[in-house]
Amino acid sequence: MDTPGFTSSILHSDRRSGIEHGSIHKPVHTAVTFTYDDARDLADVFQGKKAGYSYGRQVNPTVNALQDKISLMEGGVATAAFATGMAAIGTTLFTLLRQGDHMVSSAFLFGNTNSLFNSFTTHGIEVTFVDATDVAEVDKAIQPNTRLVFVETIANPRTQVTDLARIGELCEQRGLIYFVDNTLTTPYLFQPRSAKASLVINSLTKYIGGHANALGGSVTETGLYDWGNYPNLYDNYKKGDTSKWAITQIKKKGLRDFGASLGPEAAHHISVGSDTLALRLERACSNAMQLSEYLNGHPKVKKVYYPGLPDHPEHNLAAELFRHYGAIFSIELDDSIDCFDFLNRLDLVVSTSNLGDTRTLGIPVAHSIYYEMGPERRASMGIVDSLVRFSVGIEETEDLLEDFKQALAG
Ligand SMILES: *Cc1c(COP(=O)(O)O)cnc(C)c1O
Repeated sequence: MDTPGFTSSILHSDRRSGIEHGSIHKPVHTAVTFTYDDARDLADVFQGKKAGYSYGRQVNPTVNALQDKISLMEGGVATAAFATGMAAIGTTLFTLLRQGDHMVSSAFLFGNTNSLFNSFTTHGIEVTFVDATDVAEVDKAIQPNTRLVFVETIANPRTQVTDLARIGELCEQRGLIYFVDNTLTTPYLFQPRSAKASLVINSLTKYIGGHANALGGSVTETGLYDWGNYPNLYDNYKKGDTSKWAITQIKKKGLRDFGASLGPEAAHHISVGSDTLALRLERACSNAMQLSEYLNGHPKVKKVYYPGLPDHPEHNLAAELFRHYGAIFSIELDDSIDCFDFLNRLDLVVSTSNLGDTRTLGIPVAHSIYYEMGPERRASMGIVDSLVRFSVGIEETEDLLEDFKQALAG
């Protein structure tokens, strides 16, 4: 058989590693601890001489199966799963950076990631925020103590698209770690490995789990970065293949020390949800495209931000990089409409945070998820008070179009 497609390969990933009792899903192993007939085996597992399970904060068979599935989706060599997407970002960066290090980050960030990076600066890690839609801006910000570049594929809520491949080239030339948050595109729309990413973050809470019933996060090692000369690694984890040193330290030290581990029940929900990732995204991206086309030019809508629209500043870049243009768009309403009244009139659209659900969700971002950062930072990110972000779901297109139509008419 030729290389199987995205869905064919992930559907059978549990089975491939030989699962218990021939069960089709990896069973949910709730045990926190694992024992061995010979106590010497326990010692060997702890010392890394033998493969096996020790304590649930670091390893669990159900979580491991999900990790393997994500590695498969991302084309990576290994994945570490965490309790949330934020835990994945925080633990990984704390594990790889030290006082005196510098990182370059996209200025267009998920709000909580922005908050985390601001705390880094109070712990002696310098961060420079740049417009990552342009590789030249990233280049200018690099310093002698720069260790990594952090970007998101499509930024929310304004849907800026990062100059992913050119930044990848730059990082390779300069020996920098290239960290890509792939949450808004997921490995179905884009594999950051193809743009030379070193480490890939996914919030599993969003599209990969897909049903808003479990929190989770992951970091995947693509195998492209040679950690052989990277300074912030401990000798204990510098064993074997140099492309795996960092993910080993993240799993063995980061996960152990911070303890934000993914639970087996959540891992199971996420794994089952991920089986239909491609199907859900096909429908959601198509809905997002049709809705943004309808809203673009509507007299009561000032502006639509969606990379699929030809007048989006990074439309061509998105067309080159991604399978589809994603399922997030934002609109600025005309001054004659109050954003809260508008959301209240929408019947199928749920007013809530979160994104990547099967349902269409809407949120007035300046008043909610971007409230705490204050008006100045909001202005720098182009977030005005009337901006409403939508995470488009898998409802029938006609129903969504009808709903937006009546809510704008009201
Ligand atoms: C939601 C999100 C996160 C954080 O994920 P949680 O699972 O909510 O912690 C990180 N990055 C992006 C782009 C997100 O949308």
